[in-house]
Amino acid sequence: METEKVKCLIVGSGPAGYTAAIYTARANLKPVLYQGMQPGGLLTMTSEIENFPGYPAGITGFDIMEDFKKQAERFGTDIRMGVVTSCDLSERPYKVVIDGNTTIETETLIICTGASAKMLGIPDEMKYAGKGVSACATCDGFFYRKRSVAVVGGGDSACEEALYLAGLAGKVYLIVRKDRLRASQIMQDRVLGNEKIEVLFNTNTVGLFGENVLEGAHLVRNMGQPNEEKFDIAIDGFFLAIGHNPNSKVFQHYLPVDDYGFIKTLWGTTKTDIPGVFAAGDVADPNYRQAITAAASGCIAAIEAERYLNIIEVK
Ligand code: NDP
Repeated sequence: METEKVKCLIVGSGPAGYTAAIYTARANLKPVLYQGMQPGGLLTMTSEIENFPGYPAGITGFDIMEDFKKQAERFGTDIRMGVVTSCDLSERPYKVVIDGNTTIETETLIICTGASAKMLGIPDEMKYAGKGVSACATCDGFFYRKRSVAVVGGGDSACEEALYLAGLAGKVYLIVRKDRLRASQIMQDRVLGNEKIEVLFNTNTVGLFGENVLEGAHLVRNMGQPNEEKFDIAIDGFFLAIGHNPNSKVFQHYLPVDDYGFIKTLWGTTKTDIPGVFAAGDVADPNYRQAITAAASGCIAAIEAERYLNIIEVK
């Protein structure tokens, strides 16, 4: 297996990863960044970003991540394709295996592997994957022009997906398991004021149906209550927007995680239990999960990595 020694390895290419790259490159740590499964991270799958400071007119998720990347490249970050397949963090230098065929030995590791979309866990999701079931409206919404679709979830992601789809589809159902949305007020107002969107509160999806492709969903309103009501809706697309799971699995043998898999860090820092190993962005953030907070934690990780290297080099 090919082996390479570096001072600073960054894994993941969302706002946290690229910000860590910009700062570590400017500090002359010569960072190598592996982009992971989804170059540019989750933001490349969202439509318009309206709340990242510095963009008063908004910017698309794809464009902002291209800008992040260009800025990291400008200062010399070595950006590569590749996914972490295993690691050995038992001693320094830490060993991280990329795509099963390259070992990177690194003095510092900044983990910014983000999070991936959650599924409901009903068998039909897999049956209709790519045949009507999707976790990305901006990727797949185009196929549903003037058709009927449903989005599951009550958070900002679900509202954003529903609004995006309302611009394309003929009808959008928003399936919400509680009697309220948890999204920010501005998103709630937009959804509730959109005449193409019908919000189905207190409703759970129990199955999907269709001959070869998706044709509809089996729903239950007030599940388990005396007024429980089963009904079906006819839809061509079913979009999941029920949150995300942190991509921490490959590191869990060495790093403690919470009940949901978020890597634990020392409060107010990106330091993990292992000196020289830092976690930033959604993989370590059960609370805020914003592009701006991810970018900020990438910056913190870079500064902490630089300080750590200064200390070990002095000794
Ligand atoms: P959230 O965790 O905020 O919301 C998940 C939603 O999915 C909740 O309504 C939850 O219901 C529902 N849900 C979870 N599991 C199930 C299930 N098994 N069946 C049915 N419904 C389920 O996730 P988001 O991805 O929406 O947001 C994550 C973070 O990213 C938040 O901090 C959000 O503010 C932020 N964000 C911000 C955006 C913006 O500012 N424009 C855009 C997108 C995200 P329940 O409420 O009942 O728990």
